[in-house]
Amino acid sequence: YEIRGNIVNNAMRCFWVEKTESGEINTSVTEKPISILDDAKSGSKTDSPHVRVRVNLSSLNYKDALAATGHPGIVRRFPHIPGIDSVGHVVASEDAAFAIGDEVIVTGNDLGVGHLGAWAEMIDVPSQWVLPLPKTLSPLEAMTLGTAGFTAAQSVQALISHGVTSDSGSVIVTGATGGVASISLEILNKLGYKTIAVTGKKEQHQSLLDRGVDEVLTRSDFVDKSNRPLLSGKYAGAIDTVGGSMLETVLKSISYRGCVTACGMAGGAELHTTVHPFILRGITLCGIDSAMCPMPKRKEIWEKLSGEWKLDGIESLTTKVPLEQTPAWVERILAGGVTGRVVVEL
Ligand code: NDP
Repeated sequence: YEIRGNIVNNAMRCFWVEKTESGEINTSVTEKPISILDDAKSGSKTDSPHVRVRVNLSSLNYKDALAATGHPGIVRRFPHIPGIDSVGHVVASEDAAFAIGDEVIVTGNDLGVGHLGAWAEMIDVPSQWVLPLPKTLSPLEAMTLGTAGFTAAQSVQALISHGVTSDSGSVIVTGATGGVASISLEILNKLGYKTIAVTGKKEQHQSLLDRGVDEVLTRSDFVDKSNRPLLSGKYAGAIDTVGGSMLETVLKSISYRGCVTACGMAGGAELHTTVHPFILRGITLCGIDSAMCPMPKRKEIWEKLSGEWKLDGIESLTTKVPLEQTPAWVERILAGGVTGRVVVEL
């Protein structure tokens, strides 16, 4: 490898997650030798050529916060570096498709999960995970989108492919002030859908309306406490980022042949429901996964986000945070207290 970039002393700053022998998780923002990437690479399962990227920006997703606390459902080995999103430039490549200096996006796959992630100045990843940064997106726009925007776009595309168009009726989006939901609402508004937002943050009602949402509902009022198998079928579609009782209520509230996408579990992983919405109203529940999304689909979604569905002014959803401040933001997102997107500066 030829390494270029502004890394000094062959060391890189990163968010480091360690597990002690007694099982305690210790985290720190610290410097580690870049050679740890070589060690990780030699243990990598894939024999694909690798690309080394100087990370310019990463982001904070709910999953990153779980990784930053060493959550056993996310982190498979220690020590670990979180960070499932990155934009940066290539500093070395074993694959002729990428040249030194190319601006690239690397998101999802195993990054920041089983593989050392992007809350570091440098990552080393299989080239099949790497996409050129679309020319119409700035690095900040790309990370404002990140996995959240990618998931939002996949969710909207799923509604469309299940026949939910802007003429079908309104679309309800839950966890409305969160990353995936905020961007979902922006895309739906751009495409002319009537949108309804459900949020637990009363103080954000007006700003959601200002961003073009047609109606805002309070989480505690929306979630159904009855045991009725069906509620009035009010919504043609739904993007649920919350799971649990929120998703249960959404499923009961979808109109005939409507569609619900489910990507998240910030409000719980369990789902207690009946078959009634499915067999009486013919609704579809469509699962969304971004991490392992195959490359052709991944390219198609980034083309949408950087072309037809490009969101002008999307950076206004973003709070920029230096790596050193990520610990406080991890706590905040786990407590459901983040609004919009958080971009991490390396
Ligand atoms: P955020 O934390 O940014 O957003 C989640 C939102 O959910 C919060 O802002 C809050 O919105 C609401 N919320 C949080 N806690 C609760 C709770 N206890 N009960 C009800 N609502 C709650 O996360 P992201 O947007 O990054 O991710 C959203 C979900 O989607 C996460 O579960 C994440 O793991 C998942 N995800 C899945 C992906 C996939 O590929 N399947 C990809 C990306 C994310 P408000 O206060 O407005 O109600």
